[in-house]
Amino acid sequence: MSEPAAGRRVLLAAPRGYCAGVARAVTVVEKGLELYGAPVYVRHEIVHNKYVVKSLENKGAVFVEEATEVPEGATVIFSAHGVSPAVHRQAADRRLTAIDATCPLVTKVHKEAVRFARDDYDILLIGHEGHEEVIGTSGEAPEHITIVDGPQEAATVKVRDPNKVAWLSQTTLSANEVLATVAVLKERFPNLASPPSDDICYATQNRQAAVKQLGADADLVLVVGSGNSSNSVRLVEVALEAGARAACLIDSADEIDETWLDGVRTVGLTSGASVPDVLVDDVLDWLAEHGYRQVEVVQAAEEHQHFALPRNLTPRPQRT
Ligand code: SF4
Repeated sequence: MSEPAAGRRVLLAAPRGYCAGVARAVTVVEKGLELYGAPVYVRHEIVHNKYVVKSLENKGAVFVEEATEVPEGATVIFSAHGVSPAVHRQAADRRLTAIDATCPLVTKVHKEAVRFARDDYDILLIGHEGHEEVIGTSGEAPEHITIVDGPQEAATVKVRDPNKVAWLSQTTLSANEVLATVAVLKERFPNLASPPSDDICYATQNRQAAVKQLGADADLVLVVGSGNSSNSVRLVEVALEAGARAACLIDSADEIDETWLDGVRTVGLTSGASVPDVLVDDVLDWLAEHGYRQVEVVQAAEEHQHFALPRNLTPRPQRT
């Protein structure tokens, strides 16, 4: 174990880790297993975190890419990222018991898409092509939605009527990126319609605010999260934008390279919205072993959000 060196410290972001949507999705799988028994099929990674997926697999969850891979009549859970109506239809065709763990904040964006499409708007969905959430939202109104991935695409995207255009966004983007893209769209389409409230969710915004607060004081920022987790990748970007000298995304403490600590006095630490606390605790232990034992919490916001479980997860009445 290294001696604590004077001035070495950890700035620990708060909030970090699990958001209400992820906590709900993980509970949905655990309760689904309790109620319906293993195996319970889960379409797509329930949340984008390898550790969480592995521990649910160990409890009897079977992850599949498509509902068509689920045996007829079995139980399927849809992930927190949301699915398109076509996937709900596939599940119904196969007589699956479907439990929907879509985060309510993603469902809100789906509803906005349906409403704008009903009013015949061209909808520009700011997000990353191929991301599960963007695929699900696009599926609500495929003939009305075009994906716009950043300001460059906003400058060239084609619409039918420049006076009948609306924008929506993926929930886990960086606020700055969305603002920059919307600014370009507004320049081109002065009558651009906006969603009733910001689509970027509270958890994404709070985690970004915390990392922004500590980024300027950190020589190195460690973000615990998986590479396919959009909100975790954004935290790395926000840390660098805030002035951190370096920022790295790690799945767990095992991935930290000791050479990253050369000349580092202050380490910033945070985690994506799909990361359980245990993984951050492991990193704190690893850092303590390397002389970083002084931990200061940088609190950007308090969170009290909680989402109720889907209705078909309440236990069935027992027959007497
Ligand atoms: Fe819901 Fe936001 Fe969590 Fe995504 S990051 S699951 S939108 S609360």
